[in-house]
Amino acid sequence: MTKVLRVDLRTHAIDIEELDEDVEKKFIGGSNLAAKILWEETSPSTNPLGGENRLIFAVGPLTGTIVPSSSRYTVVAKSPLTGIFGEANSGGSFGFQLSRTGYIAVVIKGVAESPVYLWIDNENVEIKDATHLWGKDTYEAHEQLLGETDRRATAACIGQAGERKVLLAGIINDGKDGRAAARCGLGAVMGSKNLKAVVVRGTKPVKVADVKGLKKALEGVHKRVKKATLGLATYGTAQQVEFDEKIGDLPVKNWTKRRLKEGESYKISGQNMTKTILTGNYHCTGCPVGCGRTVKINGKVEGAGPEYESIGQLGSNCLITSLETVAIANELCNRYGIDTISTGQVIAYAMEAFERGFIDKEKVDLELTFGNDEAFLEMIRQIGEARGFGRLLGRGVMRASEEIGLYHGSMHVKGLEFPAHDPRAKNSLAVGYATGNRGADHLQSLAHDHQQPMGVPTPYLGNDVAPEQFQKEGIGIFVAQMQHIMSLYDSLVICKFLSFGDVDFREVHTWYNLITGFTTTFQEFLVTGERIFNLKRMYNIREGISRKDDNMPRRIVEELKVEDGMPMTEIPNLEAQLDEYYNFRGWDNNGVPTEEKLHELGLDFVQEGKI
Ligand code: SF4
Repeated sequence: MTKVLRVDLRTHAIDIEELDEDVEKKFIGGSNLAAKILWEETSPSTNPLGGENRLIFAVGPLTGTIVPSSSRYTVVAKSPLTGIFGEANSGGSFGFQLSRTGYIAVVIKGVAESPVYLWIDNENVEIKDATHLWGKDTYEAHEQLLGETDRRATAACIGQAGERKVLLAGIINDGKDGRAAARCGLGAVMGSKNLKAVVVRGTKPVKVADVKGLKKALEGVHKRVKKATLGLATYGTAQQVEFDEKIGDLPVKNWTKRRLKEGESYKISGQNMTKTILTGNYHCTGCPVGCGRTVKINGKVEGAGPEYESIGQLGSNCLITSLETVAIANELCNRYGIDTISTGQVIAYAMEAFERGFIDKEKVDLELTFGNDEAFLEMIRQIGEARGFGRLLGRGVMRASEEIGLYHGSMHVKGLEFPAHDPRAKNSLAVGYATGNRGADHLQSLAHDHQQPMGVPTPYLGNDVAPEQFQKEGIGIFVAQMQHIMSLYDSLVICKFLSFGDVDFREVHTWYNLITGFTTTFQEFLVTGERIFNLKRMYNIREGISRKDDNMPRRIVEELKVEDGMPMTEIPNLEAQLDEYYNFRGWDNNGVPTEEKLHELGLDFVQEGKI
């Protein structure tokens, strides 16, 4: 039997619930199981920073097994940043350990009277005092927590930002290895509950229905994954920086430019990092890839190095081209516990607003210009500590632009800041960001990485060749299909980088059946992915989301990047993409799933939430 742990921080009640096999079959685990719980236990009147919001840590049936790259976990809550469905996902060892406690999910509600942390030692669960940890950054808190509990445990912590309910706050696990469930402000939800950390030690084997069959199915897979991802292991995700700049995918100067100055993208690339500050690569538990970076800059940085997304937003988008400054910024964000993507984006926006006179200079008290390293680092500190002008920026780019103006430079969808990929470079990103259930999100479809140039084909969807970079027809359908695949990854819970690792998704389906003992067909498995996506959509529909919110900043759908004489050639036709996408999904023209579609997906129970 799969178990869900329930904790009420107000009453200190701790309960264990057994999951029905039917629910397991239909909702799998991870972010989908969490979405079902969130649907049932929150409502449009739920204050994301109130005791009634749920904070759910979840793993899936594949987590912690011998499947490669299977040690991730997901965190779900109603997001205080966006007001809609919020989720964030992280690697490291936390998911692995949680899966081995026997709990598939930990559902936390209520507000503790004073700071606490949750200590899950296999089946034993305690709520412990964390007053002495309040005010500590995530690296310090992690170190101290392991000293107090068990050196073999791991912890997911908030820093000062989460404590102060900064809306860009995330949750950082594994201390200075700096793995982050960063998006959607879920660190602020944790802070609002007075919960400093969840510490986990799990040693029980994960249940596998057919151990022999699984071992056989996995023969040679780890080697194959390792071979296919050598670039990721050598240079990390930041191997893409120079290439993405060339195709116009890398954000530069708040998305107004296509290129940095000659040679600057190399300076912040994974290739340069490997030659200079890299001390080793980091593997999430049991992962053959090891795409994480461990770096050292004497006296300044020691631990996790920046990933592509962090470099794109904290680096090129702010015209910060010193790798050292980007690495320092990355560590500051990790220690305060703030999202590197959103933080970089909101600062890039503020730099443009400052230079264009939208911000009163006295209000900022800094020369917040593009490329000013000192002002940039100081602004991160202000955001992390919720002070000065950083207090406003820490509320996210949507709220900042409501106060400052410059709306078309306010790069977000549904309140979530853009990741570091430009929809004018690969057009699947337009409909992907517009319809992402947590807002602007490259990971909910990952279609751009399966689109040309250099995209990995998806034969399991019938595509032996990756779609063209600016393909007009069928891109809405492709994104919807990829959202189903990625919804399954998020529910199983395993790393999506397997999709670059020469793993056909039909293999993942086989592993799922061998582990659970279920006998689903591949088609049924894909329908489960569709169910997951629609359930989250319905959560957002209930919160008032519709087609009007499936949009893009004007900068993306109206402006070409021409400033440096290398114009982009394409602007994505979002409306046409949306028509195709809704039609394929069986949603009405307003982006609402029809009754027939919900019935077909076994989601009748959400019908009353329709607008
Ligand atoms: S591929 Fe990278 S992010 Fe994914 S599990 Fe492996 S080390 Fe972690």
